[in-house]
Parts: sequence; C-alpha cells; structure tokens
Amino acid sequence: MIRIIRGSEPAKLVPLRIAKLAVLGSLGREPTSDEVVGYKEVATELWDAQHHKCCYCEQRIPKGFNDVEHYRPKCRADRRPGCAHTHGYWWLAFSWDNLLFACPACNRSGKNDLFPLIHGSISLLNPLLPPGNELPLLLDPGSAINPVEHIEYTESAIGRNGGPTHWWARPRNASIYGVKTIEVCELNRLELRELRNDHFRSTLAPQVEALNNSFRAHRLENTK
Ligand SMILES: [Zn+2]
Repeated sequence: MIRIIRGSEPAKLVPLRIAKLAVLGSLGREPTSDEVVGYKEVATELWDAQHHKCCYCEQRIPKGFNDVEHYRPKCRADRRPGCAHTHGYWWLAFSWDNLLFACPACNRSGKNDLFPLIHGSISLLNPLLPPGNELPLLLDPGSAINPVEHIEYTESAIGRNGGPTHWWARPRNASIYGVKTIEVCELNRLELRELRNDHFRSTLAPQVEALNNSFRAHRLENTK
C-alpha cells in the first residue's frame, strides 16, 4: 500500500452527490446496495490518480475494470473489534475523499465491508463527516498518513526450516494499524507475494547489482 494523492474533486461529482443524496435521504431508511449507485462516474479519475494500481495491494488494474471502492463501506460495515454497529456510510458514498479504486480480490473478497475501529470509537451517523470520534484501524491510503510508516516489506523463508523466500508485508514498529490493514486487505496472499518476488528479481535486484558494480569500479579506480 502506498499513499494516494487524489487531486481535486471532479466537478461532475458535486451535482451527482446532491441529486443522489436527496433521493437516498428521502427513503427514511438505510438504502440497499442496489440503491446506492452512480459513483462509478469518477472511476477513470480515480484510476488515473492511482497510476492504474489497486489502492490496497498495488496490483495493476485494467482500465475496463471499474470497481470503485469506498474506504468507509457504503451499505454495511463490520466495525469490530471497536464497535458493534453495522450501519453503512451511504451519505459518504459520493464523497471524493471516501472513494478509491481497488482490484477485485481486495474489494470483494478481502476488505469487503470490513471497517475495524479502535475500542472506544463512536461510529459516525448521518450526516456527520469524518473523522468525528471514529478511530479506524484500517489505513486510508488517500489520507495524510503515509502507509509506509506502518507497513514494510521484508524477505524471509516461507517455512520455518528455510527454503524458498517470499516478500512479506509486515507491520513497521509493531504498528496496530499495520497489523490490521495487512489482515483486512490480505496483503500476504500468495499472488501478492509472488508478484513482489517477480518485481524484486526483474527490477530491483538488477538495479542493486548495477549500483554495487559501480561502487566497486569506483573504489578500484581510486586505489590505482
Ligand atoms: Zn488489490
């Protein structure tokens, strides 16, 4: 996970939000998932802002795939361990700051409706805006908090007795936000570990090797 700079809210989102929230607010009840629609209008803007990568796992996503993700889930939220309330944040479903672009694995089977809060948090109610008295455990890649301060990637063996190595997401300095985000987004699933291995071998390792060769050549030149 890396920090995302969304940029300015697309102008078209403002009238869309006003119109949609007027309809949803008139229902007098929690809207269903099928009723909260239209936010995908800004899918391309999010896709571009995220350099065509998933907001949580950083996999590249084809443009045709437009799974717009809500950091605060739109219709149902599992806030455990900090809060037992399960209502969704439908009134934030069209808020630029709550929208992200995610891959199918992260959005549908990983994070899904999980939104863990710290014990003692008070969940937001319509029409309150974040953060209120909520303390999310899930890192928001679109916030001012840099995920790199909470998650690092280290190489270690798959088994306890050595053998092949993989690149694992680990909480940096035992960050509780790192622990929960890795768990919720399943950042150590096999496909991601294999992608990190491929990236290291094909891109990073040759660069490290070239740098080391350059340093060695420089040292030899200075000892002549
Ligand atoms: Zn993903």
